Amino acid sequence: MDESVMESVAISIQKGFFFQQIQTCDLPIFMHEYKGHTLFYTPGLLIAASPDQASQLIFDLHNPNPRSVYARQIRQKAEMAVSQFDLQHRISTFTPYCLTLYTSTDCNLDCCYCYSGSKEHTSSVNLDLIAIRKGAGIVAEKCKKASLPMSVVFHGGGEPLIDPRLPKIWNCIHEIADIYNVKISSYIATNGVVSEKAAKWAAAHIDQIGLSCDGYPDIQNRQRSGRNGDQTSPMIERTARILHDEKKKIIIRATITKESCSQIPEIIRYFCDTLHADEIHLEPVFDGLDSERVNGFSIRDAEYFCSQFVKGNELAAKKGATVEFSGSRLNEIHGRYCQIFRHVLQIVPGGGISTCFKTIDRNTAKNGGSLMGDIHDSDVNLLQLSEISRKLSMDDPACLYCFNRFHCSRGCPDICPLAGSEDYGSFRCRINKIMTGYSLLKFTDDFLLPMISEHEIIGMEIH
Ligand code: SF4
Ligand code: SF4
Repeated sequence: MDESVMESVAISIQKGFFFQQIQTCDLPIFMHEYKGHTLFYTPGLLIAASPDQASQLIFDLHNPNPRSVYARQIRQKAEMAVSQFDLQHRISTFTPYCLTLYTSTDCNLDCCYCYSGSKEHTSSVNLDLIAIRKGAGIVAEKCKKASLPMSVVFHGGGEPLIDPRLPKIWNCIHEIADIYNVKISSYIATNGVVSEKAAKWAAAHIDQIGLSCDGYPDIQNRQRSGRNGDQTSPMIERTARILHDEKKKIIIRATITKESCSQIPEIIRYFCDTLHADEIHLEPVFDGLDSERVNGFSIRDAEYFCSQFVKGNELAAKKGATVEFSGSRLNEIHGRYCQIFRHVLQIVPGGGISTCFKTIDRNTAKNGGSLMGDIHDSDVNLLQLSEISRKLSMDDPACLYCFNRFHCSRGCPDICPLAGSEDYGSFRCRINKIMTGYSLLKFTDDFLLPMISEHEIIGMEIH
C-alpha cells in the first residue's frame, strides 16, 4: 500500500478540499491539485493537466459546447452519470428481474453482532410456498418480456441451507420458470455451517454460493459461534472443500468488526490458503435493527479500515483472488442498496415485500418503513411505491457536491433516509470517500503522471 497516498487522501478529505466541484460549471466535474498538476474527475474519466492547460480547460468547461476534446469528453461523461443516476432513482413502476427470498427466520448461529438482536430462535417464521410461487410468477413474467434470465437469490435473516424445504422451493421456482420459458441464474448466501448433504446440494444446484466467514478459526468461532457456543470453523472449512472439489467459485463475505480490523491481511491469507477463495467481500459490521447496537467504529477509524483493506487487497492479488468493498464501487453508477432501485422483488417470512435487505421478516420491514406490500394480496399493488422511492432517493444536502456521490451507498444500511438521519460525516461516508479517493490518486500515480509532460493534458477512462 502507498501510505503517503492514503495519508494525503485522508487529510485532504478531512480538511474538505479533496476533488471539489468546479463551482462555475453546471455539471458534476471535480478538480484537485496534486503533485504540481490539476486533476479533473467525473465518473468514468480522470484527466491530469499542467497548470496553464488547466486554466484553459476550466474556462472551456463552462461552455455547454466546448472547443477542446477533453472538455467535450468530460462534459459528456458527467451528463451520462447524472442521467444514469436519475434514471435509477426515478421509479414509476416496479419491474423486478430478480427474486430474492428469505425463506425462513430460522438460524443455527449466534453471531455476536446479529442485527436481528434476537437470541431466541424458538419461534421461526417461514415463507410459504404459495408466496414463493406467486413471486416467481411475477418476476418470470417480467423477465420473459425483457428476454432476460431470471435471477433467484436465497438470502436471509435465517440460514437458507438449513431450511429442509429448500429442494422443494427450488423445484417450485423451476416449474414457474419453465412455464414462462426463462432461464434461471441463482445465488445463495449461506453461513456455510451446514451438513455435507446440504453443501453438496447447493454445489449441484446453485450457480453462485456466497459463504459468510469472518476469518481464521479464532475470529470465526468468537464472532460466529453456533447456537450452543459450538465452533463453526470446521464445518465452514468442510463446506469450502466441497465447493472447491465441485469446481465452484469460492465467494466469501467477511464482516469486519473493530476488533478484527487489524487482522484483515491475516484473514485474507486464511481465506486464500485454506478456503481457496476466489472473490472476497469485506464489509464493516452493521448496526443492529434496534438503536442500541452500534457497529463500534467511529469516523476516526475510517483511514485505518481503508489501509487494512488495501493491504488485504494487495495480498489477495498476489494469491490470485480479488477483494471487493460494496460501499463504493468505482466501476458502477450506484447509490444505496435499496431493492426498489435494483429491480429486486424481495419477499420475507410472513409474505412481506421489503425494499430493504436488512430485514428479517414482515414485522421488521413494517417497523422499519420498508414494507412495500404483501405478496398474499390478490392484486400485488405496491401502493407505497412512489412514496418509498421518493424518500429513499432523497440525498443528504451535504452529498450534493461530493465527488463520490455517483459511487456511494451513503451511510446505508446504518443510516437510512426512512429514519431521517444524515449520511455526511458518518463512518461509512468517510470510508466510501477514502476508498474512491485512494483509487483516483493511485490511477494518477500509476498511469497518468508517468505519461504527462509539460504543457500537456492526459486523460484516461476509469472503470
Ligand atoms: S455519504 Fe457518500 S456521497 Fe455523501 S458525502 Fe459521504 S461519500 Fe459523499
Ligand atoms: S437501510 Fe434504508 S437505504 Fe439502506 S437498503 Fe435499507 S431501506 Fe435502503
